[in-house]
Formats: sequence, structure tokens, C-alpha cells
Amino acid sequence: MREEYLDPDYLPNILPHREGEMGEAFELLKPLTSGKRPTNIFLHGPAGIGKTAVARFLMREFEKENVTGIYINGWYQRTEVAVLAEALRQLSYPVPRKGRSIDELVEDFFRNIEGENVVFVLDEVDALSEHNVLYVLSRAKVPIGVIMISNDPYAMRHLDQRVKSSLSPIDIEFKKYSVDELADILDERVKLAFHEYDSTAIKVAARLAFKHGSDVRYGLSLLLRAGRLARKMDQELGIEHVKSVDVKEDPKKEKRQGDLEGEHRVVVEAIKELGPDATSSAVFAKYREIGGKGAERTFRKYVKELIELQMVRAEDLPGRGKRRLLKVQI
Ligand code: ADP
Ligand code: MG
Repeated sequence: MREEYLDPDYLPNILPHREGEMGEAFELLKPLTSGKRPTNIFLHGPAGIGKTAVARFLMREFEKENVTGIYINGWYQRTEVAVLAEALRQLSYPVPRKGRSIDELVEDFFRNIEGENVVFVLDEVDALSEHNVLYVLSRAKVPIGVIMISNDPYAMRHLDQRVKSSLSPIDIEFKKYSVDELADILDERVKLAFHEYDSTAIKVAARLAFKHGSDVRYGLSLLLRAGRLARKMDQELGIEHVKSVDVKEDPKKEKRQGDLEGEHRVVVEAIKELGPDATSSAVFAKYREIGGKGAERTFRKYVKELIELQMVRAEDLPGRGKRRLLKVQI
């Protein structure tokens, strides 16, 4: 078994069932290849469905056309300084992170991309603690295409108007894969990783991945663990191995992955509808408006449960009393 092909960070040469999204993104960014300013894009959709893979794939394609690629993940580089320092590192111009002002870093960055065409990926963009770096990008004199990525379809709404209007990205929504699509995707990876295997094992893995929110990453991890088990037993990879490594979820997790039911679902709908305006009190009003039945105390209980299930996140708003903003986490 060649485990590296089941590693989630391995970037395959083909991405089945993302041809549409990829083609659209490519067309919008294409002006870069002739030194013109392209249209920025915003990729969004739930976890494990190929957003990062598509962005990295595009970056690789554009690099072949002499476009400079920079990849930043907001989870790891949260501040403006961190993003700029990492970008400079990727431009082979490492700078000391200490003792340099933001203005100097911005200047260094602009100087280092002078004369170039740049594709700048900002993955997990909602994890950034500061958004000013987006503004910096929008001010660059050279052609830059920004690919922003988030699980949260509303991530862009939280940006201030100035940034939004200067970047004005086009939305590309990533939908969940079907079981058959998951099977195709997993099959490509398994073909690389195993000499021999029972192809019905892939179908089973695809079905289980589908149950886990259509998450390809989960499917890959199943197959990796199943493969190791089969090897240990000196057998060919088969259905039994896949089934036996499937994590038996606790009921809470199950709920998180599966479809939400009843009142919880109405709460989530209300939060989604309000987007950036989803303060707890507004969500309660909206929840009642769209058919929620609980009184305020019951509603608060639902919210608390959703937070425990990590389906919803609450952020305290600064100022004025104890207001909380609710956000759906997919
Ligand atoms: P996301 O960024 O949406 O959370 P990723 O792009 O990281 O998800 O995808 C998770 C894993 O699944 C990666 O290893 C990726 O290569 C793989 N993957 C997702 N979609 C496809 C696809 N259409 N074809 C091949 N591999 C895919
Ligand atoms: Mg990702």
C-alpha cells in the first residue's frame, strides 16, 4: 500500500466532478495570464468537498503560465503581519517578523511582486482575526487574483464595505458530492494506493463518507485505516476492513453529521437567514417567524445544544450589554 496517495494533502492530477467549478474559476482568473486584472472569487461549501484542492490545483495550473502563487490559511496566519510575513516567505524574501512595521511589510510585499502576476489564495478566510490584509491586496498595482475560501457562505458579509467593494468576488458554491461521485473520487486515489482491492469496498467507503457529510477526507481516512488493517491481516482490502474501521459515532456526533431535525433545524435556518445580523434576539424573532415553536427559554436551550454540537458558534459583541452573534459552523 502506498499510503501517501491517501494523505489528504496529496493533490491529485485530476479532480473528478469539480470540472464545472474549476472551469468557472479558471475563466474568471484567466486575464492574469496576459497581465490583466482578473475577477476575484469566493469558494464556499461544507468541509471535505474539494475547495482547497481546487484552489491548489488552479494555483498549480497558473504557475505553469508564469503566474506567482501564494497560499495562506487563515487558521495558521491570523493577523495581517502573519499573512504578509508568510507571503514574503513564499516569495523567497523571508523577513524578521519582529521589529518591522505593517507599513514596511506592505512595502516589502509590493516591492516583491512588482512586475509579476499573482494568484493569492486565502483559505479559511473567516479565521483571520484582521481583514485589513484583504484591503492591502485590493490596492496592489500589479494584477492579483484573490481566491478566498470558507465553509461559511456568509464569510464575505462580515467584511467591511470598503474591502467588499474593492474585491467584489464572484461566489462559487461547492455542493456536496453524491455517493456515486464520492466513489469515483475515492476510486482514483485507491487505484494509486493499492495493487489489489475489492472494488465494492470503495462503494462502502463512499456510502460511509456520504453519511459523514459527503466528506472526502473521512473517506480517505477510512480507506487508509482499512488498508492498514487488511495488510496486518495479510488480506486484500475488502468490505469488512472498511466497515470495521468506521468510527462508531456517539449520538451527538451523529446528529452533527446527519440531518438536523425539528426545532434545531429551524434555529439553524433562522441564523442562516440573518447572516451577519444574527444576534440572539434577532434569531429568536426570526425563529418564531419561520415557524419555531419554543418559548425564549426553550429556544436558548436549543442554541446551547447546537453550540455543544459545534454546529453553531457564539461570539460576544463588543459594547452595549451582553449581545451575542450566532454563526452556523458547518
Ligand atoms: P475542503 O477544502 O473543501 O475542506 P479539500 O479540498 O481539502 O476539502 O478535500 C479533502 C480531500 O478530498 C483532499 O485530499 C482532496 O484532494 C480530496 N478531494 C476532494 N474533492 C476531490 C475531487 N473532486 N477529486 C479528487 N480528490 C478530491
Ligand atoms: Mg479546505
